[in-house]
Amino acid sequence: MSSDKPRKVEKSDAEWRAQLGPERYEVVRNKGTERAFTGRFWDHHEDGTYLCVACGEKLFDSATKFESGSGWPSFWQPLDARSVETEHDRSHFMERTEVHCASCGAHLGHVFPDGPRPTGLRYCINSASLDFEKKQG
Ligand code: FE
Repeated sequence: MSSDKPRKVEKSDAEWRAQLGPERYEVVRNKGTERAFTGRFWDHHEDGTYLCVACGEKLFDSATKFESGSGWPSFWQPLDARSVETEHDRSHFMERTEVHCASCGAHLGHVFPDGPRPTGLRYCINSASLDFEKKQG
């Protein structure tokens, strides 16, 4: 598991629990999935930057967000390839690629090879794992 790797931001389970609250904790630290069409950002259209809710790292630019119809905020590319990491996920009887924050290990969602151009990728991300910083001016 990549969670064994040293991270820029390290906290104890109790600290994450206290910081995130139960719903976010379930997604971010327990790799849960929020229900489709229930999160803050699946239908969010402002210009700005999406941050890791746990550590504040900048993860996705609104310019790469697209309408996937999935009910989760979807992006075709991370802001910086180094800011997110992936790992093979065989849970729930599926073969998927899990995506997490490189800085703190927060579970973000999954990436699928059915996205739009230019990358052909769909980063399907839980709103619960994200914060948003509106573009200034
Ligand atoms: Fe993070």
